[in-house]
Amino acid sequence: MRVSLICLMSSVIFAFEAAAFEICGDLRQGELVLINDGKKTYLKAFGRDEPPVFSIDGLKLQIEKVKWDVQSVHGVAQKKVTPSKKDEEHILREQKDLKAALAKNINPNADWKDGFILPVDGRISGQFGNQRIFNGIKKNPHTGTDIAAPSGTPVRAAGDGIVILGGKDYFYTGNMVIIDHGEGLKTVYAHLKDFNVANGDKVKKGDIIGHVGQTGRATGPHLHWGAVLDGVRFRPQSLIDLSGKNCRSY
Ligand SMILES: [Zn+2]
Repeated sequence: MRVSLICLMSSVIFAFEAAAFEICGDLRQGELVLINDGKKTYLKAFGRDEPPVFSIDGLKLQIEKVKWDVQSVHGVAQKKVTPSKKDEEHILREQKDLKAALAKNINPNADWKDGFILPVDGRISGQFGNQRIFNGIKKNPHTGTDIAAPSGTPVRAAGDGIVILGGKDYFYTGNMVIIDHGEGLKTVYAHLKDFNVANGDKVKKGDIIGHVGQTGRATGPHLHWGAVLDGVRFRPQSLIDLSGKNCRSY
């Protein structure tokens, strides 16, 4: 009798474990989480304006709403705030290149599983998601995190991947590199003084890909670091130590 009871107990536990999944990271707007459903580990990004409920495996999970800060930036060159007709062509090239790079998945590997580091040591001078006002004019929310550092500071690949875009002299982003980390995850490095990688190059986490500058629309030297998963932009710092962050089983 005792033996059969133990068997029954273990099968109940087994059934429970098979149905469970684990989520690491914060269920909050602008965050990236890691999901393990027992068969596969994958990423999910919650956008800046993510709706309040995330449905998974029949469960409805609440996504915390963020009250995004307003950031006023003064001293921006006026032509970068209200572009001329000629500049609009320049902007169209940038938008086209950026859209194409973010839509393409050239990395067949799940390189993101090897983890991420901060690409530059410096002061965070602009947070992801801020509503921005340039010279008093309301602009789009900030799509990445700004890290201020002296011009010429090395910029490192935040993770392993393949360079999907190295573009020069864009109107807003200046010199920009995008790395494809596989399975729809990309990181963006903008306003670079220069970069030393080209499309198709394989990079390792920590490799120097370029240097901090203030090309494009920037009031001082800094790295604009962006992160995108399947077209959804999120706060790039949420990539760091994701697998050990606030993990919960459901
Ligand atoms: Zn920025």
